[in-house]
Amino acid sequence: MAIPFVDIKSQLAQVEQEIRQGFDRVFAHCQFIMGPEIKEVEDQLAAFAGTKHAITCSSGTDALLMPLMAMGIGAGDAVLTTPFTFFATLESIALLGATPVVVDVDPRTFNIDPAKLELAIKALKVKDPSIHPLPAGYENLTLKAIMPVDLFGLPADYDRIMAIAAREKLYVIGDSAQGFGGVYKGRPVSAIPHVTATSFFPAKPLGVYGDGGAVFTNDDNLADVMRSIRVHGMGHDRYYNVRLGLNARFDTFQAVVLKAKLRIFPAELDARQDVAERYDAGLAGKVTTPLVPNGYRSSWAQYSILTKGAKERDALQATLKAQDIPTMIYYPIPCHLQPVFSNLGYKQGSMPVSEGLSQTILSLPMHPYLTQDDQKKIIEAVKKAV
Ligand SMILES: *Cc1c(COP(=O)(O)O)cnc(C)c1O
Repeated sequence: MAIPFVDIKSQLAQVEQEIRQGFDRVFAHCQFIMGPEIKEVEDQLAAFAGTKHAITCSSGTDALLMPLMAMGIGAGDAVLTTPFTFFATLESIALLGATPVVVDVDPRTFNIDPAKLELAIKALKVKDPSIHPLPAGYENLTLKAIMPVDLFGLPADYDRIMAIAAREKLYVIGDSAQGFGGVYKGRPVSAIPHVTATSFFPAKPLGVYGDGGAVFTNDDNLADVMRSIRVHGMGHDRYYNVRLGLNARFDTFQAVVLKAKLRIFPAELDARQDVAERYDAGLAGKVTTPLVPNGYRSSWAQYSILTKGAKERDALQATLKAQDIPTMIYYPIPCHLQPVFSNLGYKQGSMPVSEGLSQTILSLPMHPYLTQDDQKKIIEAVKKAV
């Protein structure tokens, strides 16, 4: 049997009975929208995330939109983020009319580089793109927020990012769609930014059986506004609207799935850590294995290696494919080079680290149910191919 890249079937066996019983309870009460399971799972999520508030919503993308909207970010505003991420990070900023200002990543952690973040802020302040590349229209932008990404599950460098944000009076929205469950210097990563957004897309570390997401915060005011935005900007009553919002509710059935998945999530995070350590031990010296700085714990959404060059990466992927070993390239095109963002005026060469990574990165199968036998096959195949 082929090795799965992400094994959702094996996981289902762990929780199927509990989920079916939970679905039966939903059929009994028929509150398909905002049923009691939503509040139950939000309380459990907040406890796990280490925050006062956990607000579920319909996707990770809406979980990024909700805090941006709650902070009043829109046309004329700039948000600093990384180009080496899934498209939705920049999309959420641009959908609101705001401008994503990209900052290149650290070549070893793949996360936003705080030294370059400083340069980008300085460049925006003095309106000088020779200090750091800036998007078209930079002369008229007001900097409002930083959106770091916990790529592949590894927390961003939050001590430095939060210090910069405090000094510059900027909001930090953590895009932790891949990073929920990660730990940064002893604290859940979700508790560190002003607002953290995550996704429950099935292939994320904590996935449900459809779309879903959540935001986490300790800020009572932002929490109130985000709850309002989740339901069309409602006020004290559903038919009294105080702002423009979204239809961004999480589904009651998916809350049942999430409750069951959250129960096994700590054990799954441990299993992912074991898989990562076995890859590290087996592949060290053959390819560049992922760096996890001291005091960080990754949720291992992906285990991504680097090859010497683009030719080597493509050859390795083809060799593995011929042996039924699936791999993925996250991400083949950094966001600043996506056609839809050509109006920002970034070019090949604007973000050299991200552009280089997109040529040499390869993600190997990573999930909590990867057997040691299958993993040995993968490791041997990689070692033989490089
Ligand atoms: C998956 C993902 C999103 C979007 O989440 P959806 O639930 O698919 O909307 C946003 N940012 C990053 C980094 C992601 O990986």
